[in-house]
Amino acid sequence: MGGFPELFLERVGKPLGRGVLLKDVSNFRIGGPADFFFEAGTESDLRAALGAAREGGVRRYVMGGGFNLLFDDAGYRGLLIKVGLRGMTVETASESGFLFRAASGESAGDLLKFAVARGCGGLEFLAGIPGTVGGAVFGNAGAFGRAVGDVLEDALVLGADGRAVRAGRDDLEFSYRHSKLKSRHDILLEATFRLRSGDPAAVEAKIAEYLALRAEKHPPKKTAYAGSYFKNPARPDGTKLAAGHLLEQVGARGMRVGGAAVSACHCNFLVNEADASAADVLALAAELKARVKARFGIELEEEVIFLPADGPSL
Ligand SMILES: Cc1cc2nc3c(=O)[nH]c(=O)nc-3n(C[C@H](O)[C@H](O)[C@H](O)COP(=O)(O)OP(=O)(O)OC[C@H]3O[C@@H](n4cnc5c(N)ncnc54)[C@H](O)[C@@H]3O)c2cc1C
Repeated sequence: MGGFPELFLERVGKPLGRGVLLKDVSNFRIGGPADFFFEAGTESDLRAALGAAREGGVRRYVMGGGFNLLFDDAGYRGLLIKVGLRGMTVETASESGFLFRAASGESAGDLLKFAVARGCGGLEFLAGIPGTVGGAVFGNAGAFGRAVGDVLEDALVLGADGRAVRAGRDDLEFSYRHSKLKSRHDILLEATFRLRSGDPAAVEAKIAEYLALRAEKHPPKKTAYAGSYFKNPARPDGTKLAAGHLLEQVGARGMRVGGAAVSACHCNFLVNEADASAADVLALAAELKARVKARFGIELEEEVIFLPADGPSL
């Protein structure tokens, strides 16, 4: 890969991070060195970085806040781009509702605060979900029966051909923890949300209620993990099962491999308790999946995204 940092500097005008430890940019606190790392604070930096990777034949992957990712012990053989685009605006405001536009690198929590400060309801379910707008749209983040796809009006996405296209909610094909961004690997630049005016006291009360429910279930704030490890599976008739409940029944509570453990709070949280490696987490997850498959015939699917060192170039 000789020469890529020079090419990057020439094309982007900013230097690359080299050998950045991915455990320092992931809430799991796991991951070896990425060959190259860059935080793109503007759309033109992002485009230039993507262009440099294409020109230099370097594998690349984008990330937001690193709250849903498990990085490899061997790091990443390519360019990891942290999308740091900023900006939030109220597009339209009327008695019936509001359109809010947020850049993909804004945190979902800041978007919620921004909306609440302007008397808007509809995003309360985001309270306590860490990460960026980009990550939230990518994975249709949600809680308490609501998800991003319910409130998204449209989005500006950058395709592999370098064209930015405005996509409506239906184009993004949202479903449980899924959007079309997952299958097409387009990059979200910004999203517009349709919100309703809400009684500030009622909105604040809902947020407080959700945060209290989370505090009961989730491990302490500083815990190194990535939220629910597995998706909740559905029966053939469509009814949802709780992955945590299935895991509980196969004896997951207290299980560990190396430094990785099943959280004492909830069996669907795998936590890095003591310098866990990605290999520890993956081995623990594989054992849990095998037990659930053997007992219930159900194939659990990961919600947390593992990025192998020589993983896809997205
Ligand atoms: C304590 C805790 C609680 C959580 N609770 C919930 C919850 O209740 N509900 C829930 O749904 N999730 C939850 N999560 C998981 C996580 O917060 C969400 O998945 C969040 O949306 C991830 O955002 P991120 O910016 O950190 O994404 P990252 O982890 O950085 O990336 C996740 C994926 O999104 C892609 N991505 C990121 N930005 C972009 C972009 N701009 N364009 C295209 N692709 C992009 C990345 O390539 C990657 O594949 C929780 C996690 C933690 C640690």
